Amino acid sequence: MPAISFVDARSTVLREVFKNRILPPVESVPLGDAAGRVLAEAVHADRDMPPLDRSMRDGYAVRSTDMPGRATVIGMVRAGQNFAATIEWCEAVEIMTGAPVPRGADSVVMLEQVTRTDDVIECERPVKPGENINPRGIEAKSGGVVLEAGKRISYSEISLLATVGVSTVTVFRPLQVAILATGDELVPVDAKPLEHQIRNSNAQALAAQVVRAGAIPVTLPVAPDEMPAIHERIERGLSADLLLISGGVSAGKYDLVEDVLRCFTAEFFFDRVAMQPGAPLVFGKVGAKFFFGLPGNPVSTMVTFELFARAAIDLLSGRRASPLAVVLARLTQDFKHRPGLTRFLPAKVENGEVTPVAWKGSNDLVSFCRANAFLIADAKRESWSAGEMLPVILK
Ligand code: AMP
Ligand code: MG
Repeated sequence: MPAISFVDARSTVLREVFKNRILPPVESVPLGDAAGRVLAEAVHADRDMPPLDRSMRDGYAVRSTDMPGRATVIGMVRAGQNFAATIEWCEAVEIMTGAPVPRGADSVVMLEQVTRTDDVIECERPVKPGENINPRGIEAKSGGVVLEAGKRISYSEISLLATVGVSTVTVFRPLQVAILATGDELVPVDAKPLEHQIRNSNAQALAAQVVRAGAIPVTLPVAPDEMPAIHERIERGLSADLLLISGGVSAGKYDLVEDVLRCFTAEFFFDRVAMQPGAPLVFGKVGAKFFFGLPGNPVSTMVTFELFARAAIDLLSGRRASPLAVVLARLTQDFKHRPGLTRFLPAKVENGEVTPVAWKGSNDLVSFCRANAFLIADAKRESWSAGEMLPVILK
């Protein structure tokens, strides 16, 4: 198969997964355990929000038609109280932020904008009707949808769920993601490798990335570069919701992963992407199960996970979308690359500025750990000057 562009590869993943996904079963969890989960049903306001006309400031509730002018303070209302009387002509009520605006008042003047002498306030400026008041129901009407199904629950959603009284949340069951590292050279992390061996860092990195994506990693035993062993592990991996394979997808004689997947009559959507790191990236499906063959070099594995596998996890977890958080940062120095491939290069972003981090290729974990972002170098362009804005993705 010919290489496809980064953009085509990513949209293929999003399209195929979204089109063919089977949503996970639903379960209920206490609100305190809901952070990071995906909402399985829409959440509605249980009453108008705010439930009454609410003051946004500390100050005085007044009739705007009385201002500029004087008013007699007839009482005080603070959050958690209700003021029984109605404000009449040239009357005011001292009010605290969050307190209900008394009947008769249509605005709140800020404390700083009045002078008070005994129980009389004076305001020298005109006051607009509605000033400093959030009217009842302005944020949401009772029964209206405040959160859509498919939303990942973060701290702000927790706050809203709490506000509308949802103490038990209906969420999708987290995904099980199988992780299979392949390679004769791999030894466990606690082993002392011989010179020609390396520790299996990819399985660890991927497990951490899967957890960060809100799913549950299921790490399989390493497969040596032999068809029967890879076959047996892939079969096990296909019982999870998604299978991530690391290594064995390049063009070498011992890169057997694609051959084994063909034995499962896999459908391949692509097996090469015009990008760096991560060119030998494989994406496909066996029956209803999606898999990724991620290139084995550690930086390639991690970057392709972030750019592709994470999107698949998001959508399979029930999310509606999986946007890449691309931001623009100002280049601190001139920058060049060889056009033809979209490059995701380690970079340091600070105060809106981006500086490429020198690195020695897709095995160079040390440099990669110095970076806090990937800088995106367009495949069609060769050079950029200091001061230009470049897209980056924070790590
Ligand atoms: P491969 O894609 O199988 O040709 O692997 C390319 C290179 O990535 C290997 O030569 C290793 O240096 C490295 N590599 C492969 N798998 C792992 C792994 N699980 N952990 C760390 N490095 C790996
Ligand atoms: Mg290998």
